[in-house]
Amino acid sequence: MKNFRRFALRSYVFLLWITGQLHRAKKRLNSSNAVLVLMLHRVLDKELAELTCSQPDIVLLRSTFERMVRYMVSEFEIVDLRIAAAQPSTVATRPRLAVTFDDGWSDNYTAAFPAISGASLNCCIFICPQLVGKTLPFWPERVAAEMRAKESRIDVQRINTVIERLKVMPASEREGYLRVLPINSEGDVDTTFGWSQALEMQQAGVSFGSHTSTHQMLTRIPPVEAQREILDSRIAVQSRMGHACDLFAYPNGDVSPRVREMVKDAGYRLAFTTRPGFWTGSTNPLEIPRVNVSEDKVTGLAGHFSRAMFDYSLIWKAARNVAEHTP
Ligand SMILES: [Zn+2]
Repeated sequence: MKNFRRFALRSYVFLLWITGQLHRAKKRLNSSNAVLVLMLHRVLDKELAELTCSQPDIVLLRSTFERMVRYMVSEFEIVDLRIAAAQPSTVATRPRLAVTFDDGWSDNYTAAFPAISGASLNCCIFICPQLVGKTLPFWPERVAAEMRAKESRIDVQRINTVIERLKVMPASEREGYLRVLPINSEGDVDTTFGWSQALEMQQAGVSFGSHTSTHQMLTRIPPVEAQREILDSRIAVQSRMGHACDLFAYPNGDVSPRVREMVKDAGYRLAFTTRPGFWTGSTNPLEIPRVNVSEDKVTGLAGHFSRAMFDYSLIWKAARNVAEHTP
């Protein structure tokens, strides 16, 4: 069934491509002077992708990423977030993209960074200062690790269902469940990079922003805690990286008007959600949309990077979202 769906979607994408609709979406991104902000998390070698406890929707294979970088550099203008904010209506000669990574995974340094610096690509990594240089720093991987330890051939969908249920719980209730989980410190797949690696990447041109101190979903914790997560992380990133930290990404895209005000009061200039869409001159700078990039979204039937799938999953879908939200 899954294979049939995969085949059917790619056939549909082929139809959109051959009828010029994907090309028109790309032109629309260009003509509206918008920026499409990509959200990535992990870039893994194939053997590590089989070992990771991360959910598939945050994983991209290194070979796919490298091909994607080549495509982006050849077809798009890759913009720096701060420069894009200063020139929201710039008429671009090529469609504009911005590249962001969330969480600060080690593979950003070992796998993504070589391809990024090789192509002189701008990107921004959103980190959680208290979770820098850790093994299994985020609870979804700990849940997956524990479920796999109990049942080695467990279906990934069952793990996802449990994680999604835990996500919508109040944080205090979820903590009760998670407290009993062992923190397995073996293995080095699901780890975050350290401060020295962050500094090395910064020297090579990578920007850093905050993703809260400990990756809390901000609408699900008491406001005073949310305020602390937002402000303390800004101070920590600034003092560790030696640069002003004015970029923020909401964990899990969780934002409300109250949380947005807290982010503004803490001194951030730009904040990013997980809602797909284009960043235009009329976008609230504290609720900038982003599109998630994962292996399944950008690969064709043979399992390799597909330009048509990239254009469809990221640009065409975001363009439709803009259309649906335009009065
Ligand atoms: Zn995150």
